[in-house]
Amino acid sequence: MTDLPDTPETRRASCHCGAVVIEAFLPQGLASASRCDCSICRLRGPGAVTALTARVRVLQGEDNLGLYTWGTRTAKHYFCRTCGIYTHHQRRSDPAECGINIGCIDGIDPRDFAAIPWTDGINHSCDR
Ligand SMILES: [Zn+2]
Repeated sequence: MTDLPDTPETRRASCHCGAVVIEAFLPQGLASASRCDCSICRLRGPGAVTALTARVRVLQGEDNLGLYTWGTRTAKHYFCRTCGIYTHHQRRSDPAECGINIGCIDGIDPRDFAAIPWTDGINHSCDR
């Protein structure tokens, strides 16, 4: 695990161009950060912190959010239609949770996440 704070907190996150701004409650704080090696996460890279889906609010740019789904279409991957940046996704493993792109979180130094653990997305819990 990382030594990031596990204090519950609400964070803002935004895409590269600034069109999309979201706010999310992180019940385990930044310490919930994880990376995943599933087919999509391995391409987009940065890893995510855990938020409660019911407490993710789009503050700005809802119309500018693209939605990508495939396979079982359970997971919902959101991205900015202008700059293409993935902001968050509703999880397949638990739709009550969302992953928030750690790189999008305001005031974050991505180097703080150097040691974040990996999730085994190749052997997804829903496929076992
Ligand atoms: Zn954008």
